[in-house]
Amino acid sequence: MMKPRHLETIFVPTDEKGMDGEIVCECGCRAFQIRYFGELYDKNKIAIKKYRNKFGQAVRAVCADCGTDYLLYDFAQHGYDGLFGGDGIAVPGQMLDDFTTEADNLFAVKMLLEYDEEEQFLEEVVNVDFIQQEFHFTMADRASIWSWIVIELKGLQSGTVYKDFVNEELA
Ligand SMILES: [Zn+2]
Repeated sequence: MMKPRHLETIFVPTDEKGMDGEIVCECGCRAFQIRYFGELYDKNKIAIKKYRNKFGQAVRAVCADCGTDYLLYDFAQHGYDGLFGGDGIAVPGQMLDDFTTEADNLFAVKMLLEYDEEEQFLEEVVNVDFIQQEFHFTMADRASIWSWIVIELKGLQSGTVYKDFVNEELA
């Protein structure tokens, strides 16, 4: 089963294809502070936001136990359009805000990933000269470049599920 490279040690699949998963810190903890860049709407959801004439969206999770800070998703690095469309910009860490709600500041994290089948990834990425001149992707990168991302949070203080904290079509 393939996992995104940057989530290799913390993405624990919960379905057979490995596209649904939970985030578990290398220390075993499942409670995280969430940091994000994006346009907040409906109180608890984030959309892609303009940044320096381009567009960014990013989510980091900081372990409540050991403090390890993980990048979960960056539109410019893991979004198909963000990577190849020229509109994505990686947002510096200091631009991210803490995500808190009235009830919660620690969260369990679920992610749902969609990415290309092998043949499609080969045709649309690995075998495309202008992409490879810049990126040098291999088939091992297939699980790291997403066409859709959903991140769902569960508040650990209140038990509230914040559905679609991120729900973004990326291709
Ligand atoms: Zn930890």
